[in-house]
Amino acid sequence: MQRECPYKGPMTKMLNLERETAPFRISVTRRRTSRMSMRIAKDGEVRVSVPYGTPDDEVKDFVCSHREWIEKARAKTAEGEQTRQAFFAQLPLKTRQDWDTARQRLDSIVLPMLEHHAREMGVEPAGVYYRATISRWGCCHPARRVICLSPYLLLLPEWCIEHVVVHELVHLLVPNHGPRFHALMDHYFPSWREARAETKKICRSPRGRVDAS
Ligand SMILES: [Zn+2]
Repeated sequence: MQRECPYKGPMTKMLNLERETAPFRISVTRRRTSRMSMRIAKDGEVRVSVPYGTPDDEVKDFVCSHREWIEKARAKTAEGEQTRQAFFAQLPLKTRQDWDTARQRLDSIVLPMLEHHAREMGVEPAGVYYRATISRWGCCHPARRVICLSPYLLLLPEWCIEHVVVHELVHLLVPNHGPRFHALMDHYFPSWREARAETKKICRSPRGRVDAS
């Protein structure tokens, strides 16, 4: 007796094509969708999304008929990743001394900003710590009133750093990115949109996304 699989969510598996045809990894996700589509992941993997029940042969045809697009898109992604890596490599954080230097520089730039804006906003962060994240510039734990900042902020101009500091402090008042959050950003750091655009421009890459969150 056949039993139906109880799992109804998307299912992903790798698709095997001859290496000459497709010298890259292909993953196929069968999901609730009406058409086939694909995108390139940061590591160059081709991620195909297809409706449930699509046979492997159809997926293979789909991939093969888009070879040219895939090659161009993968090249662009790789280039973007290189730009991104090169950007972050400007601040070495390998040794203890690297970290000590970075921490000193951060303290001298960030702490006065924190103090100034916290006073202005009437908030009291319990602490700030640094973590070398490349996917985000900072984060905030409103419940603990702790702010976390990426040392890679040192690669940005001061007004862009300040925008991240204010962003995280505003999270002590509003945990989400709703209208009230933006109203407070407008009030406490009116040029936040320009700072955000400038920050994105500085480490621009087609795939890379670095956000203050
Ligand atoms: Zn945020």
